[in-house]
Order: sequence, then C-alpha cells, then structure tokens
Amino acid sequence: MDKFYKISSDEVMEKLSVTQDGLTDTEVKKRQEQYGFNELGEQHRKSTFKVFMEQFKDFLVIILIVAALLSAFLGKFESTIVILVVVMINAILGTVQHVKAEQSLNSLKNLSSPTAKVLRNGEKVEIPSKEIVVGDILYLDAGDYISADGRIIESHSLQVNESSLTGESISVLKSIEPINEDDVSIGDKKNMAFSGSFVTYGRGVLVVTDIGQKTEIGKIANLMESAKEKKTPLQANLDNFGKKLAIAIIIIALIIFVIDIIRGRTLIDSFMFAVALAVAAIPEALSSIVTIVLAFGTQKMAKENAIIRKLHAVESLGSISVICSDKTGTLTQNKMTVQQVFLDNKVKDQDQLELNNPFQKYFLEMQLLCNDATTTNEKEIGDPTEIALVNYAEDSYNMDEAEIRKKYPRLKEVPFDSDRKLMSTVNKVDGKSKLHTKGALDVLLDRVVKMETSEGIIDFTNEHRKQIEEVNHSFSENGLRVLAFAYKEVSEASQISTEDEHDLIFIGLTAMMDPPREESKGAVERCIAAGIKPVMITGDHKITASAIAKQIGIFKEGDKAVEGYELEKISDEELKNMVEDISVYARVSPEHKIRIVRAWQEKGNIVAMTGDGVNDGPALKQADIGIAMGITGTEVAKDASSMVLTDDNFSTIVKAVANGRSIYANIKNSIRFLLAGNTAGILSVLYATIGALPVPFAPVHLLFINLLTDSLPAIAIGLEPHNKHVMEEKPRDVTTPLLNKVFASRLVVEGSLIAVATMIAFHIGLTTDALTASTMAFATLCLARLFHGFNARSRQSIFKVGLFSNLYLIAAVIIGVVLLQLVLLVEPLQGVFEVASLTAEQFGYVYGLALMPLVLIQLYKLIFVK
Ligand code: ATP
Repeated sequence: MDKFYKISSDEVMEKLSVTQDGLTDTEVKKRQEQYGFNELGEQHRKSTFKVFMEQFKDFLVIILIVAALLSAFLGKFESTIVILVVVMINAILGTVQHVKAEQSLNSLKNLSSPTAKVLRNGEKVEIPSKEIVVGDILYLDAGDYISADGRIIESHSLQVNESSLTGESISVLKSIEPINEDDVSIGDKKNMAFSGSFVTYGRGVLVVTDIGQKTEIGKIANLMESAKEKKTPLQANLDNFGKKLAIAIIIIALIIFVIDIIRGRTLIDSFMFAVALAVAAIPEALSSIVTIVLAFGTQKMAKENAIIRKLHAVESLGSISVICSDKTGTLTQNKMTVQQVFLDNKVKDQDQLELNNPFQKYFLEMQLLCNDATTTNEKEIGDPTEIALVNYAEDSYNMDEAEIRKKYPRLKEVPFDSDRKLMSTVNKVDGKSKLHTKGALDVLLDRVVKMETSEGIIDFTNEHRKQIEEVNHSFSENGLRVLAFAYKEVSEASQISTEDEHDLIFIGLTAMMDPPREESKGAVERCIAAGIKPVMITGDHKITASAIAKQIGIFKEGDKAVEGYELEKISDEELKNMVEDISVYARVSPEHKIRIVRAWQEKGNIVAMTGDGVNDGPALKQADIGIAMGITGTEVAKDASSMVLTDDNFSTIVKAVANGRSIYANIKNSIRFLLAGNTAGILSVLYATIGALPVPFAPVHLLFINLLTDSLPAIAIGLEPHNKHVMEEKPRDVTTPLLNKVFASRLVVEGSLIAVATMIAFHIGLTTDALTASTMAFATLCLARLFHGFNARSRQSIFKVGLFSNLYLIAAVIIGVVLLQLVLLVEPLQGVFEVASLTAEQFGYVYGLALMPLVLIQLYKLIFVK
C-alpha cells in the first residue's frame, strides 16, 4: 500500500497523476470505469421477483393455498381456481405496492444524498460524493462530510472530527507536512483525512487517495450490518395491534368452525368457511397501507421542497407544537444589501464615501480583503453577508475584488465561526502585515483599544464606545444587520490565530438589510392558527432580530427576547419556567439551542428545530424533528436532521406540517375503513351463527370482498387530498394512540350499521331461498363496504370536503361495483361465485340497503360535525 502520509503533497499529486487543475472529464470517466463508484458495499435491492415470492410467505396465504389444495383433492376445482386466482391477484397487488413504495422512497434517498466540492478541468464543481475518484482534488469547509480518504495538500486551521473511526471526539488539527515514520495510526496521520469524518473548523484541500470499500471506513464497514430501514412507531404499533387482532379473529373463526361442525356441516365446508372468514377479517393490509401512504406523501412533500430523511418524522410532523427557526435565510431572504455605514464618527448612506480619502478607501478595501465571497456577472459564491460587502464595494464604488485582493495578498486567515462571531485575515498592505478583523460589534468592541478616522489614530474612549453603541442600536432597531471592522499591524503572519484578535484599531460599521421573505408573515399566521408556537433563534443581534420578528408576527406585545449570555446565567429549571414567554433568542451559540429544545420538550411539546452549521448537529438530533437547510446547510447538519428544506424557507416547514397532519389523518381514515368493513363481516357471520340461520356467505364471497375492498379503495382513502381545515386544529396529542377508544367506538358503530344492512338483505333473501339470501348478503356487504369509503374520507361530510375531490376513490368504487355486477350477472361467473340470479326488485333492495350506512353517516356528519 502506498504510504501517502510519508511523502510531500507534490509527490502525492504526481503519483496519482493529477495536475493543479484537477482531473479532466476523460480521466475521471476512465477511473470510474476502472475502479467503480465511491460507495460502501453493494446497495443490494430486492428483485421484483423476490418481492413477489415473499408475498407467499404470509401465514394467511399459506392457509389459503392449503385450502385450495384441499378443494382440488375433493374435486372442487372451481373453488381451487378461485382461491388461487385470489392469491395471485393479492400477490401481484402486494408486489406492485411494495415496488412503487420502494421506488418513491429510493428517489427520496437520492434527493438527500451527500455532495462534494471538487476541482475538475480547472473549475470548482459540486458533484454527488458517489462520483469522487482517486486523484480528485477535494475542497473541505467547516461542516463538510469527508467522503473519501485523501492526503491534505492545503490546510487553513483545518480541524477534523474523526470519532467515527477513532472514537476520539476532539477534533484533529490537520497539516500538510509529511510524517516520516512507519506504522502511524489513523489518529496520528495528521496530513491525511478519512471518509466518515467531518470538518469542524477551518478549511482545506485534499487529494483523494482511496475511495469506497478501500477507504479506512470501508474496511470496517464490512463488519457493520447495513442498517435496516426501521419501522416507524406507527407501523410498529399497527403490526403489534394487527397480530393481536389476528389471534382474536382466529379464535372466533375456530369457534364458528366448531359450531358449524356441531350443526352438521361437513368438515371441509366448515374448514373452508373458517379460513375464508379469517382471511377476510384479518386486516393484513394495515402496515403496508402506512408504507404506501407515507411513500406517496413524502414524494409530494419533496415536490414542495421538504425532503424527509427519516420516515418517522412524517408522523411527528403532525404533532409539532413548537417550531424553533433560524432567522437568516429561513425567515429572511438572505439577500443582503448594505444600506448605511458608520465611519469618521458619522452615519453615512452607502454611497457617500469618497475614494480620494485614503482612510475611507481603506475601509472599503477591507470589505473585500476580510472576505471569502466572489461575485461575477453570472454567479455569486459565498456567504450572503460577505457577498453583500463585495457587491457594495463593486457596485457603489467600482472597485474590483480581484485587483484589490491581488494588490494586498492574503498571508493568513482565521475563519469565521458562529460561536466566536468574528473573522480575520492577514494581508500584505504597503509592505506591512495587517490583521483585518470583522464581526459582531458586541464581540469586537471589547477587543478595541484605538480608533481611526480620517484625522488619524486616536485612543478609544468610553464616549466613542457609547456613540458607536447608540448608532448600532438605531441600525438594529430598523432591522439592519451590523458588522464591525477593525485592524492592527502584526509581525509574524503565519503564527496568527484567534488569540491575536485583540488590541485592535476600530474603523467603522457596515449596516445591511436582509428583508423578511414575503411568505414568512403568512406562514407565521398559519402556524399560530394551527396551535404551533414559532420561535426565532439567531446568531444575530437582539434588537435586529426582534425588529424582524415583530415585522413577521413572531414577536408579540409582552413577549421576551433573550440573548445567549443571559441563558448562561439561568438554570434549566428557570428556563423551563419562562420558555413559553420567549419568542426571540439572539446571539445564541449552538449549545444554547439544545437547552431551548429540552426546555420545550420538558413542557410536553414536540419541537422542530432548524439548523445549518457544523455545531448544530446535537440540537438537530435532540429536537423531535431536526430540520436542515438544503442550500446553506452543512453536510453535517443535513446528516443529523430528519428533514431537509431544499429552499431553506420557513413557510416550507409550515407546509410540511400540514402535509404531516394530512398524511396521518389519511392513514387513520384508511385503517378505520378497513377495520369497520371487517367488523361488519364478522358481526354478520356471528349473527347468523348465533341465530342458527343458514350460512350468510360462501368462502369465495369473503375472499372476493377482501380482494375488492382491502386494496384499491383503502389506498385511495390514504391518498385523500390535503384538507384545508387540518391547519385549523390543535396539534395532535402524541400521548393519544391512533387506535384509541373514540376511534374504536366509531368503527364499531360504522361496522354495525353495515352489518345491519347486510342482515336485512339476508332476511329478505331468505324469503326466497338460502342461495338468494347469501347472494343478497354478499352483494350488500360488498357494496356497503365500497360505499363506506366515502364516509372514511374525512371526519367531515363529503359535501364539505368536495364530492369529486378524491377521484381515486371514485374510480376504485366504480371498479368494485362493475366487478361485483359481473359476478352477479354473468352466468359462468355466477356458478364460480356461488350466487343466484337476482330479480330487479332484489337488486333494488341490495343497492338501497348498501347505501343506507352512507346516507345515515353523511346525514349525521352534515348535522353534527362542523
Ligand atoms: P441565524 O442563526 O439566524 O442564521 P446569523 O446568520 O445571523 O443567524 P451567524 O451566522 O452565526 O448567525 O452570525 C452571527 C453574527 O456574526 C452576525 O450577527 C454578524 O455580526 C457576525 N457575522 C456573520 N457572518 C459573518 C462573517 N462572514 N464574518 C464576520 N462576522 C460575521
């Protein structure tokens, strides 16, 4: 193996045949063909055939197959064929559902797959991490996940957390110096970085030496079982419930089996009936309905800019009662423009500086020097705050960023981080090394000892401090974001670190506007109407933050705004007691975010928290729903989150909550539909058994109904369009389970109504003969269950939610009715399905009775449900 850490970075580049311009497209293609993609292990997906075969593993399906064989053995080939057809159609439907759900979940995964910044053909481009090849030059910034192993060729205070490999949680400072030793452990390879670790500070560049399975993490990844997609709590709950219900139904089926035998039915008939009853009554579709509804629901959410990374998040979305949101970029546009400056003891409009004043010119140059952003006509790259500064110097004063940066070359930099709230660079200015620092005024002022104006350098007095603070206050009250600038001369540029940001000479302030997003105000209103408390958490100044929060309705009369340092002075208990009154947190660091989330959670709330920075990971994980920013967020933040916003927009969160609520309601409705129908079937059979009446259904009837109602209509109900009223209700209480008493009593009432209709039809049929009776009972149960789909669409009447707003359900019901009519009317099918020819009058009764539960329930909803 090559020991890249032993040789110089130039030698590494040479060995890997890379130039300063990175690899060319042809070279990349060649390497990809030769060594494959940068992936850990084969992503083995089940083949469709395997999924299909797995449908036959189900206990009920096995019993059905046994029943089919038994029928064949007894010469009842018609039954055998019917049962096998049912089993096949079920298996096909199951496979299609599984594959569809899988496809949409996979496309979701691809949407949130990691990316990397590489140099190719001399240009910096962003590519999916999967496409990295050996020899790629990879750029690393704070918050980036490293997705290949490589040799560091540039390090600017680059620090990397390698805990996933070494277990060590303290970041390692990386350098480019070769290490002339053998047997160096991973943790000591300071000039290499490894896949699976992430950049916590600074920036750097590496050249990729290993990818995929060959990386250090790849070698151990083989030992790790690939994490199976875990079931969501709702699915687990339903599985558990489904099992218990199945046992209860099997017991009922057994009792009926015994009673039937005592009553003198043949063993085989009794067995067939018991099997059919069990198959029809056990709601085997519960968990798969949840998967399908979640899969389609998350796809819709992705189209609306919210990518779900963890499925269980969809369930929690509906219960969110607090949304803690960043300000910059989420509630505001993140499009900043400099409005005013403070220089030479005066507030000036942005275009009032004079380039022939050397001091004022230096102030403008500093905006470009202590700055990593670049702008061209087509593209603006970098932090919006810094882009605003570049645009300011270029647009208002015709300065050229490249020219100034070339004239005063950068010798060293100390990157910005949101804890320190400062950034510094050292530039060569007229033969001297000058440290230029910019950042939050409150942090910078304490490090200032002198002040410069056009008149020269003077001591920094308390009066100066007071004046600047007043100016800052008035800027902030207008919602402006303020940056302070200072500098000093230094001797040893290469040694400069955060420790040197003191004894500075104050120069001036720049105040910029970042207007709220247009949608923010409306989204905040919707949030509040839905019983959700929006909270602003920002690194920005308290007064700026409060001003913006007031504009968009987050900050109301009587609310409190608290700063990070104030939080440090109070205990968790005190914070918990006051948390409901605080709507703005300013100048917070990522650690404060965790405390805020916990305080809300301890008050019984379900909390969503946004984040973008490398240190936001823990708070995002602590929140019930961690939401990362797709555009400005770091890979680390995305990795820790359960949802990613592709447009960084607060209003997208509110939309996602509405979707979450709808999805949950749809799942619930679909399950109620299934269970109410099954209850109706069981009640009818129990009634006939207890009343010593003839058997109301032939086994094929039950299988037919099961096939017709448990598939398409149940899914169609799960796909009910978004109900606009979902955001008028309070958040769902997570402590109330889906299958609660109210839910159970409703479905029993609904099931009973259908059973009553079915039994009336049965009795009417009995006046003719037993076959007519069972035909009428079968047809009524089948139709009533289909029609009940309209009741299950919503808590409200279908006249309120719109008769034609769920075309899927209308289609599913029409298909069901047509198939049933075929069975009832087509002669050969009549034989197979053991039905009598019904008269027009009998058909009238069947349809009238089947519509009865629909009419009654709709009337009830119209009158009593708002
Ligand atoms: P939010 O948490 O809402 O996104 P934010 O973007 O204002 O807020 P930070 O990026 O942590 O939060 O910025 C905090 C403060 O640091 C700002 O108010 C500003 O004074 C200062 N600051 C921001 N960006 C820079 C930068 N590039 N260089 C120097 N100082 C900066």
